[in-house]
Amino acid sequence: MIKVSNLHKRFGKLHILKGINTHIEKGEVVVVIGPSGSGKSTFLRCLNMLEVPDDGEILFKDTIMNSKKTNIDKQREKMGMVFQQFNLFPHMTVMKNITLATIKLKKKSQKEAEKEALDLLRRVGLEDKAGSYPNQLSGGQKQRIAIVRALAMSPEVMLFDEPTSALDPEMVGEVLEVMKRLAAEGMTMVVVTHEIGFAREVGSRILFMDNGLIAEEGTPQEIFNNPQNARTREFLSKVL
Ligand code: ADP
Ligand code: MG
Repeated sequence: MIKVSNLHKRFGKLHILKGINTHIEKGEVVVVIGPSGSGKSTFLRCLNMLEVPDDGEILFKDTIMNSKKTNIDKQREKMGMVFQQFNLFPHMTVMKNITLATIKLKKKSQKEAEKEALDLLRRVGLEDKAGSYPNQLSGGQKQRIAIVRALAMSPEVMLFDEPTSALDPEMVGEVLEVMKRLAAEGMTMVVVTHEIGFAREVGSRILFMDNGLIAEEGTPQEIFNNPQNARTREFLSKVL
């Protein structure tokens, strides 16, 4: 579904991504782990062109994302993204947050968009929050709404950047539960997370990033039980 070739990204003089090569197959849950500052967020943001690569290629199905000819807005509609900080619109109700893009971009009627939003809200146990504003919700509820908002666009892949890192510990589980269900339903997912339990249980493949490169990749079994790279071992000794 996504093929990344020789991806480089610089911020000024800083060389952040130093030649990433990988691929994400349909239905895979690829979990990206690695130390802070290793380039995980930058990598994820390059996939949907929130950051523009300096070199290399991002191929999403048949489309070169970083080509001037590509309608990036159209492509982005197929790639849902969930951030650490939720990024809900604070002045809009939950319902409006979810239906804004489906009405505007998917040209759905308000009635249809709201019906679909309610169905999704029900799936995450939040149908009673449709009329609430984000500041009336807990962190875990906000993040579940952010996931629903992304899903409302019927994306083909979901990108998660540390979706539970800003949550109080007791709310991490409810968000991971929604993500696990999504994975079980066959959604293609790329997940940056420090939740090693989730990575073990749900990950089809683990990418360990270090200093702007994928230092090691493999199945959860390979990476967590038998890491080959010294940097992977050092990182895991700190987080496991
Ligand atoms: P991670 O998500 O693994 O913690 P990031 O991809 O966020 O790492 O960041 C990698 C490096 O790139 C960091 O040193 C960070 O300071 C730098 N960086 C990220 N975004 C920008 C930016 N917009 N401008 C300048 N430097 C940035
Ligand atoms: Mg990050």
